[in-house]
Amino acid sequence: MSDALSSLHIFNSLSGKKELFRAIEDNHVGIYVCGPTVYSNVHLGNCRTFISFDLVYRYLRHLGYSVRYVRNITDAGHLEHDADDGEDRISKKARLERIEPMEVVQRYTVDFHQTLAAFNTLPPSIEPTATGHIIEQIEIVKGIIANGLGYEVNGSVYFDVQKYNSTKHYGVLSGRKLEDMIHNTRSLSGQSDKRSPQDFALWKKAEPQHIMRWPSPWGDGFPGWHLECTAMSTKYLGEQFDIHGGGMDLKFPHHECEIAQCEALNQKSPANTWMHANMLTLNGKKMAKSTGNNILPNELFNGSNPVLSKAFSPDAARFFMLQAHYRSILDLSSDALEAAEKGYKRLIQGIELLPDLPTSNESSVDINAHIDTYYAAMNDDFNSPVLIAQLFETVKLVHLLKKGEETLTAADVEKLSNSVHEFVFDVLGLTLATKEKDNTYLDKALSVLIDLREQARANKDFSTADRIRDELLAKGIQLKDGKDGTTYGLST
Ligand code: AMP
Ligand code: ZN
Repeated sequence: MSDALSSLHIFNSLSGKKELFRAIEDNHVGIYVCGPTVYSNVHLGNCRTFISFDLVYRYLRHLGYSVRYVRNITDAGHLEHDADDGEDRISKKARLERIEPMEVVQRYTVDFHQTLAAFNTLPPSIEPTATGHIIEQIEIVKGIIANGLGYEVNGSVYFDVQKYNSTKHYGVLSGRKLEDMIHNTRSLSGQSDKRSPQDFALWKKAEPQHIMRWPSPWGDGFPGWHLECTAMSTKYLGEQFDIHGGGMDLKFPHHECEIAQCEALNQKSPANTWMHANMLTLNGKKMAKSTGNNILPNELFNGSNPVLSKAFSPDAARFFMLQAHYRSILDLSSDALEAAEKGYKRLIQGIELLPDLPTSNESSVDINAHIDTYYAAMNDDFNSPVLIAQLFETVKLVHLLKKGEETLTAADVEKLSNSVHEFVFDVLGLTLATKEKDNTYLDKALSVLIDLREQARANKDFSTADRIRDELLAKGIQLKDGKDGTTYGLST
């Protein structure tokens, strides 16, 4: 590895600093990312987090690491409001729709996979499920009880946070102090089985109406939400692994509890580096399933959400997301998407000029230094916005080369061309170079039909105008009339 390849720095939420990344085992990296709870369609906020970690996965691979990327599917144990009491999100959906919980799981797992494939994210190396690891989770609960940090009450098992905190720090990741947490929480109602409000469930007794239940040494029940990630991360990556990731909203309590569980069981903190991706917002507020403040990927691809002026391709949306650093909040709006789409087209047009650039006997530009700026950006905590800015510098250079105002040898043109392709397609995971060409033809064909419809409407020939619209819709293409004219998208 050259210098550029061995100086990856990652912001570690655990230390609050950017740190030089060193894999535990030579050339191998183990990374665990918390996956979705599959009880409804993923929204664009969820997608942003998974695209952020796709970038991390892709860049680590680009650097030559052999990466084992584990991302789970939460198909049991995640209760409403992330709490220890209440209904299981999947069971609730199953009850409301009168279907089996596993039908809910199947439906939304398929949606999740299709959506992430549309965004060109790579599948993880292992995608384990919570229900497939009940035995492992029970073993962990037994281990934590044996180590004196879990206690059973009425068929449920809780983690004893106060006892744990007497030797370790509960709050090490989120920078909280247990005393403050105690001070800020109301005391427990007499009905709770917990010794203290901060204790969290490792195993919950299943009430008779609870459908998703498994036998255990403490009676029929189901695992606490935080337990599955401890079971699956350590099973596939070992007691200590390189990177653990998830959305910022999972830092507390979910990830804090994962650390506590691992420390209680193995006396080891599970991951060396903790990465947290920031939120996608809409109208300045976090996109969330529960509040309804969200846009679904399909609504973006067909432009059917009223917030959007038109349809946007998955590539344009991916580019929009990558133009922000993964640790910054990003607000989605139609204007911002349109600006990103324009920028993206400019980048693609620049790339398309690469194969036909004139070459010269001498280079007037140090092409290695130019390419090093791509690495410098990504080595600085996966700074994709800076990488994209550098790629726009490349587009400027390409135009200067075309005009003969700068020169490159054939070997340097090839080097530049290869690097641009690697960074745009392999690292940023954008695809449009070829599809965009196909779309150009589709755009042209549809603009003819849109014009004909306009003319028909101008001539008050509404039956022809409606026929064009309806027949396109029957073929899955939806016309959308907006203030700037008519656009098209795929109908759902
Ligand atoms: P969930 O299915 O709710 O467990 O969420 C799956 C992933 O999406 C988690 O890593 C969350 O942190 C992340 N997530 C949820 N809402 C947003 C959002 N508005 N922006 C970015 N990531 C989010
Ligand atoms: Zn998790």
